Amino acid sequence: MRTLCVYCSSSDRLDPKYFAAAAQLGGEMVERGWGLVYGGGKTGLMGTLARAMKERGGHVVGVIPAFMKERELAFEGADELVSVITMRERKLLMESRADGFVALPGGWGTLEEMMEIITLRQLDVVRKPCVFFNQDGFYDDLIRLFERMLADRFFKPSNMDLFRVASSVPDIFTQLEAARTGSAETKWFETK
Ligand code: AMP
Repeated sequence: MRTLCVYCSSSDRLDPKYFAAAAQLGGEMVERGWGLVYGGGKTGLMGTLARAMKERGGHVVGVIPAFMKERELAFEGADELVSVITMRERKLLMESRADGFVALPGGWGTLEEMMEIITLRQLDVVRKPCVFFNQDGFYDDLIRLFERMLADRFFKPSNMDLFRVASSVPDIFTQLEAARTGSAETKWFETK
């Protein structure tokens, strides 16, 4: 079984369309034989995704820092709930367990996790596919910022291939398969 690391919102206050998409993703992951590794939370899209997977007999691994567990934020229905001390340890463990990464809509936590993975892709430390789920254009402005970074030569054109953008839940799987996972072109323009 392949394992997908999903970064997504911990907020319970979102429009129902976001919860519906997270639940749909959970169902499709089980159908397509993907297990989940994620931040282990019971709230927001995180909780919806994990519960949707468990309801359909899917496999869920949560990696949660002890301080969040103590605040009863953990999804206790996970097959495995790994307790770590820091947020950094959590990210490392999620990364090492995953065969690919998807960011659903989210806030700073989601963005920070996905940016770290793309940075590691750029440095050739990670060679696994990364996909943004651009639900209703949620990530349009971020992608525009990436295009500005490229135009101003903050990175090379090939670096734009280090992530892919999905426009629907089924498209997430298409993009995961289509992603280039070979080594990244070296980041540095010159080494002098
Ligand atoms: P955010 O997008 O700011 O809601 O943060 C969500 C991401 O940060 C998740 O992918 C988690 O790994 C982590 N995170 C933030 N808040 C929580 C929480 N209450 N429970 C579990 N993980 C969280």
